[in-house]
Amino acid sequence: MKKNLLGLTIEELKDFAAELGEKPFRGKQLFKWIDRGVTDFEEMTDFSKALRAKLQDAACVGSLDVLRVQKDHKDGTRKFLFGLEDGNMIESVFMEYKYGNSLCVSSQVGCKMGCKFCATALDGFTRNLTPGEMLEQVYAAERETGKAINHIVVMGMGEPFDNYENLSVFLKLLHEPEGRNLSYRNMTVSTSGIIPAINRFAEDFPQVNLAISLHRLDNNGRSAIMPVNDAYPVDDLLRAAKEYTEKTGRRITFEYTLIKGENDSEHDVSLMKKKLSGLLCHVNLIPLNKVTETGFDGSSRKKAEEIAGLLENFGIPATVRRELGSSIDGACGQLRAKNKSIY
Ligand code: SAH
Ligand code: SF4
Repeated sequence: MKKNLLGLTIEELKDFAAELGEKPFRGKQLFKWIDRGVTDFEEMTDFSKALRAKLQDAACVGSLDVLRVQKDHKDGTRKFLFGLEDGNMIESVFMEYKYGNSLCVSSQVGCKMGCKFCATALDGFTRNLTPGEMLEQVYAAERETGKAINHIVVMGMGEPFDNYENLSVFLKLLHEPEGRNLSYRNMTVSTSGIIPAINRFAEDFPQVNLAISLHRLDNNGRSAIMPVNDAYPVDDLLRAAKEYTEKTGRRITFEYTLIKGENDSEHDVSLMKKKLSGLLCHVNLIPLNKVTETGFDGSSRKKAEEIAGLLENFGIPATVRRELGSSIDGACGQLRAKNKSIY
């Protein structure tokens, strides 16, 4: 079987070059080509014909298949359904903002966390993605759109902190100074609230933005929609968030998906006031994208604006996130769920 070079570090590529009887600097050259999105060894013009043939025999670059691209004609958002080598499917979402282009990347096939409103959770967990499979989403989206991606959010399918080691390699590969050298400040990781990983992340990646999915602030209510809350109760989570801000000096983002009749009452808002006041944070309010199988529906945009206004009055910075790509099943896992019968 050919060795897939996408997702290897410069050191690993140097070792690979040595296995082929080549000088180590070839490893760095390979890294730079791969990082530019080149998948065909024939295009690696600083290699001799003989070396290109040798590489062709022994290796390949990448393995993702673009199965489907859906474009939202209103806002330019594009959603990709990718096929993995083993037949599994994952999604990524490309978004254009004023400040640049962003890609929402998946970290796992499925998810163990079982949030009741989430399409990814419907099929349970299959496996972790490799660093290469996370990185290739970026290259493939750049190839398909013809646009450079300068912001990465790990907010697609899966719980990134349940795949911490591979996530770390992925972030470091994006940041590699010999490659695209993407600033850590242009990366965001979103977690459902795995406390030990939050503590570790503050040490390992203090410059990467951290988002925590809160969604409810009463302990029993949060457990009812997010089973992860049984292991890591919301008040412990908020304490960990506070420690994170103290350790890193960075503002934390709280994701709050608004679910009609579930977490959008006056009582919910008063809990936000009580528990979030004084924290170095920003609240992102997102009306839930309806996933028919879950039985939940989103709050109205008006309701979301109203809650944002109340939070602002309490001195808690809050915005209602643009519902990007809602016409193309914008929420994570929705496209895959729909395509199961097709592929
Ligand atoms: N597992 C991580 C990251 C992936 S989910 C996490 O939970 O944070 C990314 C975000 O999408 C989370 O805030 C999640 O709660 C939210 N989400 C899941 N299903 C959604 C839906 N149907 N509509 C809107 N947001 C949703
Ligand atoms: Fe997993 Fe995030 Fe979906 Fe919860 S919301 S099931 S943690 S992907």
